[in-house]
Amino acid sequence: MRKPLIAGNWKMNKTVSESIDFINSIKDIKNDCVEGLVCVPYTSLTEVKKSLEGSDIKLGAQNMHYEDNGAYTGEISPLMLKDIGVEYVIIGHSERREYYNETDQTVNKKVKKAFEIGIKPIVCVGESLEERESKKTEEKIKKQIEEGLKDLKEEDLKDLVIAYEPIWAIGTGKTATSDQANDTIKFIRESLKSIYGDVSEKVRIQYGGSVKPENIKELMSKSDIDGALVGGASLKKDDFEALINY
Ligand code: PEP
Repeated sequence: MRKPLIAGNWKMNKTVSESIDFINSIKDIKNDCVEGLVCVPYTSLTEVKKSLEGSDIKLGAQNMHYEDNGAYTGEISPLMLKDIGVEYVIIGHSERREYYNETDQTVNKKVKKAFEIGIKPIVCVGESLEERESKKTEEKIKKQIEEGLKDLKEEDLKDLVIAYEPIWAIGTGKTATSDQANDTIKFIRESLKSIYGDVSEKVRIQYGGSVKPENIKELMSKSDIDGALVGGASLKKDDFEALINY
């Protein structure tokens, strides 16, 4: 019912020419049962959009501002992303929360703006190692859901993607076990259901954190995992292909 979404988050990697070369190497990857997506740096969006013509792979950005325009030096407006033809945007990645002071409140503003403009948000949530060890995972995630996804329109929920990314598993080589990931994703859906009811069944909830060809099959075999948000392994052609064709 929910089509799995395998999304690459390139982070701050690849120049424009490197991006074009990479897209040319992956654009023919096709799996009718899976949606494939690349979230590339702002500077590469326009050229990647052109290179993806005719491909099944979709285009996403890694962040955006919540205002349409104004005096926000260095920021990128949702209108600019829409104009390029961006379909998805990552919101509230833990690196943005940690290094750029993003909060559940700014996440909420961005998510609402993304829906208003017609870009599908991928909202990242997840706990730190300290929070997991002190059994505060659910408390942390509940707050992120309640505040970050507050006051959404029910009709928008079908286009919402949530990425459960335990911070301790991002870029560390440590993966949550498939059961840990599945259990937390179930908890996320229950939290969402307590706010929005049955329409929450339409929301795709991905796992992210050191996903690679070696562990994707096991993760995707779990009942509630609707895809993956992948950093490191999405930068290599063979790995990205193996992920899409898990
Ligand atoms: C990410 O960028 O969201 C991520 C999960 O990175 P990695 O796959 O490298 O852990």
